[in-house]
Amino acid sequence: MVQAARPISPLATALTCRCPQCGRGKLFINLLNLRDRCDGCGLDYKFIDTGDGPAVFAIFILGFLCVGGALVAEFKFGVPWWMHVLLWGILTPLIAVFLLRFLKAGLIALQFKNKAEEGRLAKE
Ligand SMILES: [Zn+2]
Repeated sequence: MVQAARPISPLATALTCRCPQCGRGKLFINLLNLRDRCDGCGLDYKFIDTGDGPAVFAIFILGFLCVGGALVAEFKFGVPWWMHVLLWGILTPLIAVFLLRFLKAGLIALQFKNKAEEGRLAKE
């Protein structure tokens, strides 16, 4: 197993969506599907279990951005209703995918760094 020369920042791996161990291999296939293992160091990604964490954070952040943006667009610029539909209909899915990739990669990096896993009873 290849170790990075120095520890890799979870923020850096989250922003680049790379392997939390080596920082080279890609985490995702297509948009949000995880690979089976790292192409760079062979780290098995079976340990990854982010659950609903990325979605919860994405919902809160996306809701704040889109509702806030819609309120500013409506009351500061007075955009017509069809412009809201066009603007938020396009921006919301784009921001959601970006946020989900970033947050999922970030939580994976934090899980790897902190060795977080399901609790187990000690073996006798
Ligand atoms: Zn790797």
